[in-house]
Amino acid sequence: MANIVAIVGRPNVGKSTLFNRLIESRVAITDNMPGVTRDRHYGHAVWTEKYFTVIDTGGYVVGSEDTFEGAIREQVEIAIDESSVVLFVVDTMTGLTDLDKEFANILRRSKKPVFVAANKAETFERHQTAAEFYELGLGDEVFPISGADGSGTGELLDAIVAKFPDSGEENPNEGIPRIAILGRPNVGKSSFLNALTGKDRSIVTNIAGTTRDAIDTHYRLYGKDFILTDTAGIRKKAKVHDNIEFYSTLRSIKALENSDICVVLLDASQGLESQDVSIIAHAHNAKKGIVLMINKWDLVEKDSKTADKMKKEILERLAPMNYMPVVFASVLEKQRIFQVIEKVMEVYENKTKKITTSKLNETMLPIIENTPPPMLKGKQIKIKYCVQVPTPSPTFIFFCNLPQYVQDSYARFLQNKLRENFGFEGLPITVFFRTK
Ligand code: GDP
Ligand code: GDP
Repeated sequence: MANIVAIVGRPNVGKSTLFNRLIESRVAITDNMPGVTRDRHYGHAVWTEKYFTVIDTGGYVVGSEDTFEGAIREQVEIAIDESSVVLFVVDTMTGLTDLDKEFANILRRSKKPVFVAANKAETFERHQTAAEFYELGLGDEVFPISGADGSGTGELLDAIVAKFPDSGEENPNEGIPRIAILGRPNVGKSSFLNALTGKDRSIVTNIAGTTRDAIDTHYRLYGKDFILTDTAGIRKKAKVHDNIEFYSTLRSIKALENSDICVVLLDASQGLESQDVSIIAHAHNAKKGIVLMINKWDLVEKDSKTADKMKKEILERLAPMNYMPVVFASVLEKQRIFQVIEKVMEVYENKTKKITTSKLNETMLPIIENTPPPMLKGKQIKIKYCVQVPTPSPTFIFFCNLPQYVQDSYARFLQNKLRENFGFEGLPITVFFRTK
């Protein structure tokens, strides 16, 4: 299961500054791609080789003291339910406030681990002020930190990642693909889900006082096993308008992070929109397998060339994220729904495909010899050999004398050659350079 850390706290305590610090080392190239609206409130972070997703809740509901009872209270409740760890930020410049206490009252009831970060603690005095927040009775410890200069954040992160479940634990569903169904509103996600599972997913039991967590449902369809990391069954918790976006974003982030393969639906009658590109970029950055499903194909006036033309246009616009299978489908007319599942299975196979070191080097070394890395600052880079590492998405390490001199363009060249030779349809290929 993916680890999701939600940053909560009243306005101006420094949530977004801290958020940016946590994700800064992981800003991916695709964030700068044209057409990708960069989501500043959601990102990936890594600490001591543990990966997690960070959400800055402050970005969704802009509140003040008087919106607490409505929007903010609800938002904190949603954040608690949907995340694995809550990071509660308070401000040592202002000290403990009534609004902090309101937040604490809700957080204290949660069963999720809560960490208190006493922010802006750059000076000795403010560092001392941090002790005030023990009064909140939350977590084991108050962590004095500065999101602005990073001090104290190491200790905080050590404590947070220690709460993550062991990734080594045995998973009885290992080997069965987990699928997340993603896409803009109205592209046909629920209809697709209904068509797959034969149940009316829109009927949701709403037992007062109970909230079902995201559940993984195991399906067998056309003789294939798969798991839908389905969050559609959760009852709608958001009542406040601003929180509806927050809630549905959290839900789809969670489904995405917990999946192996994302089926991204587009509406054929509308083509590729920037929001679609952002969803694909999220899946790409999270190194998930991707299948593009162009739904509502029944609505398009077409001849024998329309599909090929449209596929070409879409993939050109998605470059360099243009490695995924594309299926033209209609849920309404039950057209090619099975093909989507077949593609999911193929991409899943690719995800676990391992190229032997000898085969890899036989193929790649001659290519590298023909087109060696360009010299940089008069230095000759010599790549000696390469290996595929056992990670959930295809990742290759190239061993060489001067890894720091290898340019991005050469990394892309190698990615392209790996893809030409070994396929990996539907998956991003990652390459690293190391000395040994
Ligand atoms: P948010 O509303 O909780 O997301 O808070 P912001 O991150 O936007 O920060 C609010 C204000 O506090 C800004 O003026 C920041 O420059 C300032 N700030 C944020 N973090 C720190 C910090 O660690 N130390 C100090 N001294 N100021 C900070
Ligand atoms: P969601 O918001 O992505 O879950 O989308 P829905 O499944 O609720 O579908 C939105 C609308 O699109 C509904 O009116 C569906 O009946 C319609 N719809 C879904 N799939 C298709 C399709 O393949 N063709 C057509 N014409 N309409 C579809």
